[in-house]
Amino acid sequence: MTDPRTQLLLYDNYARSLREFAPLDEGGEVGLYTCGPTVYDYQHIGNYRTFLFEDLLKRVLLFHGYRVRHVMNVTDVGHLTSDADTGEDKMEKGARRTGKSAWEIAALYTQAFVDDIRALNILPPDVLSRATDHIPEQIAFIADLEARGYTYRTSDGIYFDTSRQADYGYLARLDRAGLEAGKRVDLGEKRNPTDFALWKFSPIESTRQMEWESPWGRGFPGWHIECSAMAQRYLGDYFDIHCGGEDHIPVHHTNEIAQTEARVGTRLANFWMHGYFLLANDAKMAKSAGEFLRIGALVDRGYEPLTFRYLCLTGHYRTQLNFTWDALDAAATGLARMRSAFHALPVDAHVEAAADLLERFTAEVSDDLNAPRALAIAWETLRGHLPAPVKRATLARFDEVFGLGLVDWVSADEPIPPEIAAIAKARAKARKAKNFAEADRLRADLQEAGWTMEDRADGYVLKRRSS
Ligand code: AMP
Ligand code: ZN
Repeated sequence: MTDPRTQLLLYDNYARSLREFAPLDEGGEVGLYTCGPTVYDYQHIGNYRTFLFEDLLKRVLLFHGYRVRHVMNVTDVGHLTSDADTGEDKMEKGARRTGKSAWEIAALYTQAFVDDIRALNILPPDVLSRATDHIPEQIAFIADLEARGYTYRTSDGIYFDTSRQADYGYLARLDRAGLEAGKRVDLGEKRNPTDFALWKFSPIESTRQMEWESPWGRGFPGWHIECSAMAQRYLGDYFDIHCGGEDHIPVHHTNEIAQTEARVGTRLANFWMHGYFLLANDAKMAKSAGEFLRIGALVDRGYEPLTFRYLCLTGHYRTQLNFTWDALDAAATGLARMRSAFHALPVDAHVEAAADLLERFTAEVSDDLNAPRALAIAWETLRGHLPAPVKRATLARFDEVFGLGLVDWVSADEPIPPEIAAIAKARAKARKAKNFAEADRLRADLQEAGWTMEDRADGYVLKRRSS
């Protein structure tokens, strides 16, 4: 537990200021909702910068001794190629691109996302909820908005009437008068430029792969309603922190707030936090632009996923970060040096982290998650004159926040002791002979000696156990 006197300051985009964090439910869990991936393709490294920022936030909350209930959605329907309700459904488009069904690509890219976050050492959410598993909740939400007079019907769907809310767009400080004045001619049947779809009708002439019956006709939910409905289902009407990338401020989060405010009268979350973009050569990184960088592409070039995690720690989440291969090389060097310096330090279970360094580190991460300065303290610790086991214990505490897996890391050149190699060999033999009882017994022996054995199609890998 961190010193309770250390304040945790977080930048709340709703207030546009740093605010001291205190959980709404004192002694209870911190409710955290983070907008998840749209699973029509792989996520790119820009997306993962945002997920890594959210993981840093979660780790800092845990470091402060809070329990966290983390909910993340998976958008597998309703996100159109333009965030503003025009264009094609990204899932149906992805299905056409790959020749698979929309359901198949949703499953494929959700799994790819789960694999990537594991590789990046991102703590998994407590609830990972698919939009398509929550259609009844979304329909009930829209029906309630309709009963309260916030909706209208056009020929292609049910829309939210943003003119009904005096403070619509407050999060983004939207200039509504300016938007009205500049109304484009292609407003179509929408009454106001900022109105957005709650339910879209299936086209009459064709059948969609993903569609449902509703009180308004066959169709599918708009993108924003899933987050309002699922956040409410898993975290209640008003919870602690809602996050996403900076692009969500003007449209997606603005509309989530509008819906929830209209239905229950709260603005959904107490804190609204946003990760700023990762740029590629100073330009926007977009999946739709064809070639894009994913974690797999870094691995193909010989980088470990955790190198990207280290790179993200070198920039504050509230400034944009430009991705370059040189920057990634520098991160790879930093991570390698930190690992080997850490592993050269002897373990002594009886020593504790250095209190003054821990205090300074806590102050930095509690100052709106200042990871770059926290990283500098880690280097200072490694280079300083503390007794080696104390350095190690201190770094191990810091890594609870960094998530670089320092303790678990095994050097590729660490020799495997011969007796361990012999047990592993015997176990592989027992497995091959289908003598599973013997194989299990030998696995337990390995565990006891501090090693784990992972079976692979072409053999096995031995790793040192993490604790
Ligand atoms: P999506 O899969 O498009 O729904 O995006 C998943 C998350 O990544 C959202 O929180 C986005 O705001 C965020 N995001 C999208 N592009 C970038 C980028 N270039 N840098 C950082 N975050 C991004
Ligand atoms: Zn969302």
